[in-house]
Amino acid sequence: MIDSHIHLDDRRFDADRSQLLVEARQTGITGFVVPATMVSGFAKIKALAHEHDDVFPAYGLHPYFVHQHQPNDLQILADFLQNNQAVALGECGLDFYRDDLDRNKQQVFFEQQLEMAKDMDLPLILHVNGAVQAVFELLKKHQYFNAVMHSFNGSAEQARQITETGVILGFGTAVVNPNARKLHQVIKSVALEHMVIETDAPDQPLYNNKNGRNLPVCLWQVAEFIAEQKDIAVTQLIQACDDNCRRVFAL
Ligand SMILES: [Zn+2]
Repeated sequence: MIDSHIHLDDRRFDADRSQLLVEARQTGITGFVVPATMVSGFAKIKALAHEHDDVFPAYGLHPYFVHQHQPNDLQILADFLQNNQAVALGECGLDFYRDDLDRNKQQVFFEQQLEMAKDMDLPLILHVNGAVQAVFELLKKHQYFNAVMHSFNGSAEQARQITETGVILGFGTAVVNPNARKLHQVIKSVALEHMVIETDAPDQPLYNNKNGRNLPVCLWQVAEFIAEQKDIAVTQLIQACDDNCRRVFAL
């Protein structure tokens, strides 16, 4: 079972990363897609991927850190993608949830990365927070749909329109919350060939562990919960999500 989105490079894993990887592998987790958030983190992810065959790196400039990004970072990103193995460009996108994040600058950086991914024929890993429609409009503007929209939190109708273009939706620990009813409707409505699963660890800890870390092994709760919601065997869900991951990221 492949985790389509996990921040294994995060400092919060520095003390016990190897141990957590061993534990995750023992439960049957076979791959980890690790997206970057800013230029200063690229080298650490590259080193992790070098050290572990089951770590698949992606590089991008995350909208949450828009104030740290320098104009030249786009060139650094392009050079880095040209000279290093990467399964995707990401994560990038738009975050309209917080209003102290410059939206114009976010959009400039996102559109540049969108064009870069298109030029390089790389899939995008999209971070979309409070901006599902805005991101979808930009994908349509640039006519590029080779993408995974991670931690999807839009409506069932948006999910239908977006998956029709071929974009894959990522679902993580947020779905396990019994009160996330809108998300449960979305999960039920999205066909298996349009979804992947993720943890986003150490972010997005489970609803009953709000102050703790999200962990690689929590992918099992995500898989089991979604399979139950869709009334299918967990093995069938995992098979489909793994197939989608391998296809979109060329693993
Ligand atoms: Zn992320």
